[in-house]
Amino acid sequence: MKKVLIISLILIAAMFSNAQDLKYARSLDSTLSSPEFGGRGYVDNGEKLAAQFLSNQMKSIGVQYFTKNYFQPFDFSINTIQSQEVKIDNLNLHAGDQYLVFSNSPSIKGSFPIVYLPDSLFDDKEAVAKFFSNPQLKSSFVITEKRFSFLKFQEDFPAKGLIYRSDKKLFWHVSKARTQAKFTVIEVLDSLVSPNSSSITLSVKSKFIKKYSARNVIGYTKGKLYPDSFIVFTAHFDHLGKMGSDVYFPGANDNASGVSLILDLARHFSQPSNQPDYSVVYALVSGEEVGLLGSFYLADNPLFPLNNISSLINLDMVGTGSEGIAVINARVFPQIYKRLSEINKTENYLVEVKERGESCNSDHCAFYKKGIPSVFIHTMGKENVEYHTITDDYSRMTFTDYEDLFRLLRDYINQPLCQD
Ligand SMILES: [Zn+2]
Repeated sequence: MKKVLIISLILIAAMFSNAQDLKYARSLDSTLSSPEFGGRGYVDNGEKLAAQFLSNQMKSIGVQYFTKNYFQPFDFSINTIQSQEVKIDNLNLHAGDQYLVFSNSPSIKGSFPIVYLPDSLFDDKEAVAKFFSNPQLKSSFVITEKRFSFLKFQEDFPAKGLIYRSDKKLFWHVSKARTQAKFTVIEVLDSLVSPNSSSITLSVKSKFIKKYSARNVIGYTKGKLYPDSFIVFTAHFDHLGKMGSDVYFPGANDNASGVSLILDLARHFSQPSNQPDYSVVYALVSGEEVGLLGSFYLADNPLFPLNNISSLINLDMVGTGSEGIAVINARVFPQIYKRLSEINKTENYLVEVKERGESCNSDHCAFYKKGIPSVFIHTMGKENVEYHTITDDYSRMTFTDYEDLFRLLRDYINQPLCQD
């Protein structure tokens, strides 16, 4: 009887601690994606508030630091959209879901005629040249559908601006260019603007910040047996931020989810009874959405010797999991993949650990380029397909197989791929 009681208590304790893990990660995700943090971008101090919050979290869970307050400052130029209003003919459009202003657009105010550029014209170079030589374009907006990228980067775009009709749910990007564009680009749902639309009235106020100061937030747990050998986790905490003061992109999955998982691991390994054999670094980086800037800065200005990194795992968008996880760079570093997939198989955690090829599409890239064994994990599943939308919010976060992913990474730290 006593034995049964002890076993039940152990089981309850185990259930409780797992539930707590998810609860902690959920509370972090919910906070980071709340309006208060403004989408962790460059309007209304979202990125700065998030960095401070993460530093406070690291302190409160007892993570060790390399630098004061865990901060690693760096800076870059960024264009921001401070406010926007758009009317097509007599229809006032709603920002965020009906239209977006491209983030590198300059300020503009006024009413302008609209000229339609049919898609079919693009097959005829002469016709395109003729279209663009029309002097009236100088004071007009051009509407186009496809072939957008063709126009987007034209330095000498001969019109006032461009309206891009989209037949998909709108998703935003922050510009990777470190300059302000010469003309304004508005993306509008195709049901709201047509080739027959005749005028656009708009007011966009943008602000170019020449030297924005961002901060990576980096802590670690010292290894018990091999303190000089590091397993590194990276996740970007920045997101797209705000477009004007009213529209914000919460980034609950991209990438408050990855940040929450890393802090959860940090909390686990900071408890003396869980101290790992190898040192573990928790690198929460900024500036990813504007071109992987924080991770490249860290790789170029490391706080610990890069040669001592045995493996690096980047987490970006880990809020689903019904279809398992994908491991990018698995084919480049088959040893890491093999280790992860062995643990997963033995412990029966996730439904699939999918092997993927090389890519430099997230914060592992800077380290991979320096020859460090680096992979990138994201979860798979159609339960949440929001990406760069105003609806990538906490209400859609399922954390479907969060606990199994946590256990897989915890076990990986405890039985890592050794440096030999
Ligand atoms: Zn991301």
